Amino acid sequence: MNKINVKTPIVEIDGDEMTRVMWKMVKNKLLLPYLDMNLAYFDLQLKKRDETDDKITLKAAKAIKKYGVGVKCATITPNKDRVKEYNLKQEWSSPNATIRAALDGTVFRAPILVNNVLPTVRSWKKPIHIGRHAYGDVYKNCEYRVPEAGKAEMVFTSSAGKELWRGTIQNFKGPGIIQGIHNTDKSITSFAKACFTYAYDQKLHLWFGAKDTISKTYDAQFRKIFDQEYQANWKAKFEQEGLQYFFTLIDDAVARIMKTEGGLLWACKNYDGDVMSDMLGSAYGSLAMMTSVLVSPQGCYEFEASHGTVQKHYYKHLKGEKTSSNSMALIFAWTGCLKKRGELDQTPEVVEFARKLEEAAVEIVESGIMTGDLMLVATPNPNNRQVYTEEFIAEIAKRLKNKLQ
Ligand code: NAP
Ligand code: MG
Repeated sequence: MNKINVKTPIVEIDGDEMTRVMWKMVKNKLLLPYLDMNLAYFDLQLKKRDETDDKITLKAAKAIKKYGVGVKCATITPNKDRVKEYNLKQEWSSPNATIRAALDGTVFRAPILVNNVLPTVRSWKKPIHIGRHAYGDVYKNCEYRVPEAGKAEMVFTSSAGKELWRGTIQNFKGPGIIQGIHNTDKSITSFAKACFTYAYDQKLHLWFGAKDTISKTYDAQFRKIFDQEYQANWKAKFEQEGLQYFFTLIDDAVARIMKTEGGLLWACKNYDGDVMSDMLGSAYGSLAMMTSVLVSPQGCYEFEASHGTVQKHYYKHLKGEKTSSNSMALIFAWTGCLKKRGELDQTPEVVEFARKLEEAAVEIVESGIMTGDLMLVATPNPNNRQVYTEEFIAEIAKRLKNKLQ
């Protein structure tokens, strides 16, 4: 059989621990036998980041900007323990944060659905995608423990040195707490653009929730920017596709999400996205069934699994013990990347291959062959059988081969 040619190079970012082990298996068993790919390979395993003073991470981000589409394996974000374990020069920052900052991107997450792992919420039939604004708010705050009675004020001084505004936060009668947070029009606009782009791309309705009734300046600015972006650049396109942009209060959005059947993108402010994506992840079954894509306002894409390097399984693997680690999200990171590459290159055969691989993977789980994490949450069935990491990939490979014949 002739291999399928992938026209433009794909940026491949390798990573750490158990996901690195699975990454190699996925490539060797499911991709390389069928695809003729030109890979711009960046090895971001922790040791390499340390050796290059983390320059390799910036190089990888640059390559995504150049080629437009990349796929990333999970990587260790070092903490004190890792600095010791890997004898690092310093506690390097999270590669995801570095790449996100370089691309000015927004992260979107979506669950992989299979018919034998039912969402905890009965009405959810289709994936609910979440778009989290990954800049500012409480994640870049300035806070203070007020020790005694006194006046807390907020002051804005322009770059020219002029005090433009002063407001009272509270006249404290005793101890308390205060917090200052911020966001920028530029970042909110990027976020809005990324959300509209993603929703339009995936043919999803877009919901956005904030609390503009209470926060009449801060949250109101988010709403205003989303409205402006919609009116200026998306209204006609959305209407043509029968898609809806819907703004509602965040509490109303939360209540309605429970009753919807899914099939929408939920744009969330930073904190809402942090909290709600964990709720969605757990309600849809397993961490290993959640994919993630970083989309830049310029239309660059980086696909990955949303879980980490599965450290505990890796230590077992190092001891020579068998693991039952789930490669679904890694496989879907690759298929997401291939589908996007194929779309941009106008090579439908690449998109079709990715679709068949997704089908094969889903069908294997639905036939009852699954890894340990799914055994715990799948609908009980006598056909259910737990398999090891490499067996799971081998089963998918067999099914894929049949589909491609
Ligand atoms: P994790 O790798 O997501 O794993 C947490 C637990 O979730 C695992 O111990 C396992 O539970 C389960 N799990 C996650 N993925 C699984 C899979 N594919 N198959 C089966 N079970 C899976 O999180 P972590 O252990 O807290 O973090 C490990 C490292 O990953 C850290 O160094 C962190 O910095 C990094 N990290 C990287 C990224 C990224 O690159 N995007 C994201 C998050 C974390 P059981 O042990 O109960 O089986
Ligand atoms: Mg969270």
